[in-house]
Amino acid sequence: MSTMRAAVLHDVGDLRIDEKSVPEPGPGEVRIRIAVCGVCGSDATEYGRGLVLAVPPVTLGHEFAGTVDALGEGVDSVAIGASVVCGAGISCGDCKPCRNGRTNLCRNYTTIGFHHDGGLAGYVIAPASIVFDASTSGLSLDTLGLAQPMAIAVHAVRRSGLRAGQDAVIVGIGGIGAFITVAAAATGARVLVVDLNQDRIDLALALGATAGLLSGSAGLAQTLADLDFDPDVFFEVSGSAPGLASVIEVVPRGATIVPVGVQRGEPSLPLGTWTLNEVSVIGTVAHVYRDDFPEAVRLLGTREDWSDIAGVVIGLDALVDDALQPLLEGRSTQIKTLIDPWARTSRNAAHGLRPAP
Ligand SMILES: [Zn+2]
Ligand SMILES: [Zn+2]
Repeated sequence: MSTMRAAVLHDVGDLRIDEKSVPEPGPGEVRIRIAVCGVCGSDATEYGRGLVLAVPPVTLGHEFAGTVDALGEGVDSVAIGASVVCGAGISCGDCKPCRNGRTNLCRNYTTIGFHHDGGLAGYVIAPASIVFDASTSGLSLDTLGLAQPMAIAVHAVRRSGLRAGQDAVIVGIGGIGAFITVAAAATGARVLVVDLNQDRIDLALALGATAGLLSGSAGLAQTLADLDFDPDVFFEVSGSAPGLASVIEVVPRGATIVPVGVQRGEPSLPLGTWTLNEVSVIGTVAHVYRDDFPEAVRLLGTREDWSDIAGVVIGLDALVDDALQPLLEGRSTQIKTLIDPWARTSRNAAHGLRPAP
């Protein structure tokens, strides 16, 4: 029996690179040979802070791209050899949210990489129903490794209703804020980004933002006035109390606030004022595979090079020290770190279009 290496979370703080047998796809499932798998704050939290979603022992990894390598019974939506990305979230299809097309709110929702073995391994098994054939995109597998976080951004922007001609403010340009910048700018709206770090603001400008504000340098209200910006939508991505407070202070009548970052504690909100001002607050979580994945892959095709978001690909052995631990400590220099489970050393990511076969 052939084996593969896998990053298995055994308990909080106990992640091991185990040798496991290569899994076989069941009916309706495909096996994907992993090319790259990204990690995010969710992985870092499960590893370093406490189990929120993960049911150990489980192989982590929910942001992966690769090549279809075996098909289970009855699968005809993808072919062996296809370059694919995966939604990772598995919905039941039967409950009320599923029947209404809100599969991310499925009452029986589980996630590959938390509840089922994930993509930080040589191979992963996934239901064909959430495996997106991106072969015709021509994008490299390293670039396609950004599809899942991009789908989360696409979902947040879709939830907000942001459209061309409107103004948006994004507070917090971290792992998700950078992708939201791309998705928000792609609507044709003007985008003002706010962050504590000038490098992140410069990155957001390269990703399509119209203007940037270094928080603390000037008030948001003054900047909005100076730029003649009249926000329709605020994405509060930092999840911080000051971030939310800055939004509350300036939100105009009729605007929408999307709290993307999860606020800890219970912030006090001026609901009475918001009622009279018709301020909308819209939650957002994960993505709706069917609606958000095609757009996510399309957006990845709008830039040549994503090295400024994901510049390096590391091996499994460096996962904890070079990816999870920096994320936990808030000292990641990369927006996104990609892992190649087959690699023994790190390399530069290869973005853009693949050479034609
Ligand atoms: Zn993630
Ligand atoms: Zn369901």
